[in-house]
Amino acid sequence: MTDPPHDTTSSHADSTAPDPGVGTASRAAPPGPLIELTDLRKTYQMGTQQVHALAGVDLQLGRGEFWAILGASGSGKSTLLNVLGCLDRPTSGTYRLEGQNVAELDDDALSEFRLRHLGFIFQSFNLIPQLTVRENIELPLYYLGWEAERSADHAAVLADQVGLGDRLDHRPSELSGGQQQRVAVARALANDPPVLLADEPTGNLDSSTSDQIMALLDELSQRGKTIIMVTHENDIAEHAQHRLHMRDGIIDHIQRVT
Ligand code: ADP
Repeated sequence: MTDPPHDTTSSHADSTAPDPGVGTASRAAPPGPLIELTDLRKTYQMGTQQVHALAGVDLQLGRGEFWAILGASGSGKSTLLNVLGCLDRPTSGTYRLEGQNVAELDDDALSEFRLRHLGFIFQSFNLIPQLTVRENIELPLYYLGWEAERSADHAAVLADQVGLGDRLDHRPSELSGGQQQRVAVARALANDPPVLLADEPTGNLDSSTSDQIMALLDELSQRGKTIIMVTHENDIAEHAQHRLHMRDGIIDHIQRVT
């Protein structure tokens, strides 16, 4: 285990800071919930059959909240996460993120919106094997057109924050699973998005490494990131103050722990 990450907001004051308006520190927060889902539905046509993966989800999520999404296989967890991540569009209903109705964005605008608002952490890390740690962390910044030097500097700051400042030139295959997931967390943080989406983030890790990654997510949550995590493990879900249980495409119930 390495040192806990340093304050992720501190870099805003230096020359590596994201563009004005990008970072949460400089973005004026519109009133209302961070995320609002209204009668959200996703229907798949399978031959003559319709599968209602999401069958009417109403939900409001606030800034800085930590949510776990639980439920049996096939209950709609991944579909919900994909819609929240703007990776998939709902069949009907409304999804607002920071007041923006995402249905109003065309595909290009949606990609840019995703880059600025959402960071992704996957079970299988999804790092690019040919790229170094630094280059993997830089990817979102590359797509946003950051200058090479500034983006390399910022990636180094982020690697340091997740305890991998001495591994910048390593490739993913030279790292442990826990270290690879730390790189993925740093990449998710690169553009300082308000929301982190995590899909079984500890699913490929042993229990002590899982604890380290969850400690990192806890810390990010305390610093104001909204975290939405799919998991089937109760001890992992216990890190979240809001536990949403899905059943057959609807919210079965929400447990709130204060
Ligand atoms: P979970 O993540 O909880 O296991 P999913 O969101 O993956 O559930 O799936 C919800 C339902 O939607 C399931 O019945 C699944 O078979 C169906 N489904 C998911 N994706 C597709 C797809 N691309 N095409 C058809 N059916 C799908």
